[in-house]
Amino acid sequence: MTTAERFTVLVTGGAGYIGSHAVLALRDAGWPVVVVDNLVTGFRWALPDDVPLVEGDVGDTALVGRAIAEYGVGAIMHFAGSIVVPESVSDPLKYYGNNTAASRNLIEVAVRGGVRHFIFSSTAATYGAPEEVPVREDAPTHPINPYGASKLMTEWMLRDVAAAHPMNYVALRYFNVAGADPQGRTGQSTAGATHLIKIAAEAATGKRDHVSVFGTDYDTPDGTGVRDYIHVSDLASAHVHALQKLVDDPAASHVMNCGYGRGFSVQQVLDAVDRVTNLKLDRRVGPRRPGDPAALVADNARILATLPWRPERDDLELIVTDALAWERKLAERG
Ligand code: UDP
Repeated sequence: MTTAERFTVLVTGGAGYIGSHAVLALRDAGWPVVVVDNLVTGFRWALPDDVPLVEGDVGDTALVGRAIAEYGVGAIMHFAGSIVVPESVSDPLKYYGNNTAASRNLIEVAVRGGVRHFIFSSTAATYGAPEEVPVREDAPTHPINPYGASKLMTEWMLRDVAAAHPMNYVALRYFNVAGADPQGRTGQSTAGATHLIKIAAEAATGKRDHVSVFGTDYDTPDGTGVRDYIHVSDLASAHVHALQKLVDDPAASHVMNCGYGRGFSVQQVLDAVDRVTNLKLDRRVGPRRPGDPAALVADNARILATLPWRPERDDLELIVTDALAWERKLAERG
């Protein structure tokens, strides 16, 4: 790549969990970065000191428009949004606001500012409860919660905008993201965790006294929910490869699953935590959680065929080990 192509990448939600890992991966690959984050769930300290932070909402068109012009932004990676499935069920308008409406504004200001490439954090929740698992990208998208619907609508906006304007995009449909930067530079830090591996890491480090198992009567091998857990560093590197693909082939856009293609049940995840810590978590069986499908596992053939991305941390115990190391670091921080 020539230096002329080294435009700045605007990362929304760059002070958050996945966004901060993407910022590190982009910088490790030599890309200049500017972050837009309102710091509601993110942290300034999650960013390297020399990464500029524009503090505010991604839906604030004046603010983002200024940042695009000031920093010479040529691509946007859009991580900012609300991510808690049960909360989306109880407060859907928050999700249609923070995810769908804010994304609409961001895409508009990107088009106006001449931004050529857009990478979007989508989700396996766009599929709902898929009939076939592993699920392919061409499976029907019937979200069963407002979170998935709010993200699917953004995929639709990108599809239509890319057809009408000189912009291409990649929507990465994430499966279950977990773990932390293997170098210990960032990790999942937001209080009030709801995600299983984070909760188990909190329990293993004494922050909680038990882990609830949400339902043991699913149609899965052990009756608990099955998910495709992917290490956050592998996910972050998929974004850097996706960006390169958009630059190299500006006529094409892609919707791609981002997972490892294999599933673990809640019990298997907790077993892995027990093995890594040599302790026994207190597991308490509870009812199903609203909005949860039985099983979600990626068919990842498309991303493997499209990008030179290859997973490097496809190992549940490694994911748990990195999540635990970060949890201990957070505990020391106080
Ligand atoms: N889960 C659980 N106990 C918890 C949190 C999650 O049993 O404290 C289950 C949840 O029902 C699902 C799986 O773990 O089957 C993954 O849930 P998570 O919230 O981590 O991610 P999601 O798949 O909802 O995005």
